[in-house]
Amino acid sequence: MKVFNTYSRQVEDFQPIEAGQVRMYTCGPTVYNYAHIGNFRAYMFEDILRRQLRAEGYAVKQVMNLTDVDDKTIRGSRAAGVSLQAFTARFKQAFFEDLKRLNIEPAELYPAATDHIPEMIVLIEKLLAAGHAYRSEDGSIYYRVKTFEGYGRLAHLDMGGLKAEARVSQDEYDKENVGDFALWKAWDDADGEVVWDSPWGRGRPGWHIECSAMSIKHLGESFDIHTGGIDNIFPHHENEIAQSEGATGCHPFVRYWMHCGYLVVDGSKMSKSLGNFHTLRDLFERGYTGRDVRYVLLSAHYRQALNFTFAALDGARSALARVDEFRGRLAETAGAAPVTGAGAAPAWVRAPLAAFRAAMNEDLNTPEALAALFALVADGNRALSQGGVSAGEAAAALQALRDMDRVLGVLEAPEPVPDAEALRLLDARTQARAARNWAEADRIRNALAASGWDVRDGPEGAKLKPRRA
Ligand SMILES: [Zn+2]
Repeated sequence: MKVFNTYSRQVEDFQPIEAGQVRMYTCGPTVYNYAHIGNFRAYMFEDILRRQLRAEGYAVKQVMNLTDVDDKTIRGSRAAGVSLQAFTARFKQAFFEDLKRLNIEPAELYPAATDHIPEMIVLIEKLLAAGHAYRSEDGSIYYRVKTFEGYGRLAHLDMGGLKAEARVSQDEYDKENVGDFALWKAWDDADGEVVWDSPWGRGRPGWHIECSAMSIKHLGESFDIHTGGIDNIFPHHENEIAQSEGATGCHPFVRYWMHCGYLVVDGSKMSKSLGNFHTLRDLFERGYTGRDVRYVLLSAHYRQALNFTFAALDGARSALARVDEFRGRLAETAGAAPVTGAGAAPAWVRAPLAAFRAAMNEDLNTPEALAALFALVADGNRALSQGGVSAGEAAAALQALRDMDRVLGVLEAPEPVPDAEALRLLDARTQARAARNWAEADRIRNALAASGWDVRDGPEGAKLKPRRA
């Protein structure tokens, strides 16, 4: 498998540190609002990456952090008049619901920043001891960027200016150098109740240090892959390298840095003022499914800018309908035929499957992989129309679709997940039955049926199953 490494700006052969095992860290969401489709582009790219690694036989340990303390979460919780924890809990839950609807495989771990303050303090102490950090007058701790030899290498920056002691502007008088960044921020009024004790006084961690602390804790001082959006390269990932290698002395902190490109909407940068800012929830309200959105997000190569349009969503829907129809035809022909070895598959199945795998192993080339999928659909439809497809061959083609979908995750329609209203109704029905109010229980059952849910009563209580059309 080959991947593009941002650090070297080259496509490289992927070789994990430990044979057969991939350790991968992903910068996760800041849980202060509903994530938008630009955010989900990055989580989708990471999902495709882990699925392809798994399809190639690697065991994957992916860690995705949840940023639940920073300026935005603190501001949001104060504006809402609730605790930081209560404020972020709501958006954490929404985030996991959205991931599920996009059929994104869960990471192995989702550490939260607020659960790792002691680890961050230990890391900052090491940086202070090594001379990489200093305490400013107000009790904040800054990283002294000029002490880290490789600073700027990931982003390919010319750091000459910084090394020559750039003048510090008036409003940042407590830093020695403009490029220095906060590891620990001393408490001030804006932080309200959000505060932790540290050896340097009360305060809270900087954003960058959380990813160094959590990745080292859960993946070790040196691991295989670190991902994010290209907007994370500088300063966030550059700072992570300086912090992690500065504290541990272990180089490299990360073997392969992988970043996905921007997402624009109708050719423009997404912004609330342009009215083209879409959360995933907005798209569901317009009647699109997670499957439609997922298809659009994987239709462009992850390193290219992706132009998101409603026309593309409609196109996704019809492309998926073509696959569904093809699968239906295959299923009819296959009947109960067992899948035999891959060698028994006809050339019109083998060739696109091989092309698919080659495309995905070439730095996750999803546009080419989708082209291979549609070559299978076109050639298979032609063969079916000519009546020359045996039951075994149709079964082999169905298996090829399943193999492709292990990576794409978009061909099989995922089971719908009941929404909050359906769950509330189910609960009300359970209560009506407990009160022996059979008429009310029946009325609720009918209301659920009208919104697409069947109620199944079982030994573990009542459950909702999607109604089949
Ligand atoms: Zn991060």
